[in-house]
Amino acid sequence: MAYVITDNCIKDELCVEVCPTDCIHPKKDEAQFETVTQLYVDPDGCIDCGACIPACTSDSIFVADELPEDKKEFAAKNAAYFAS
Ligand code: SF4
Ligand code: SF4
Repeated sequence: MAYVITDNCIKDELCVEVCPTDCIHPKKDEAQFETVTQLYVDPDGCIDCGACIPACTSDSIFVADELPEDKKEFAAKNAAYFAS
């Protein structure tokens, strides 16, 4: 059950700094960073440690099964970013 980033994300990388598995992308040094509207969690890399949630000041991150109804689509959107 991976964590999921939603569209409140302001791409400040505060979660990236605390993630122990480097599973949040794209980062500033990646080409896609400029074009994406938010960052994404790789569900295959996330170990459910929860460190990212208190780091996020815009309340953008949720446990997948606790996503609000209007944010449920973001579980698939996060996974899709890493599928290609
Ligand atoms: S829960 Fe942990 S491993 Fe998963 S994205 Fe957040 S900080 Fe990274
Ligand atoms: S800490 Fe929150 S707002 Fe910042 S990049 Fe991560 S998810 Fe986005």
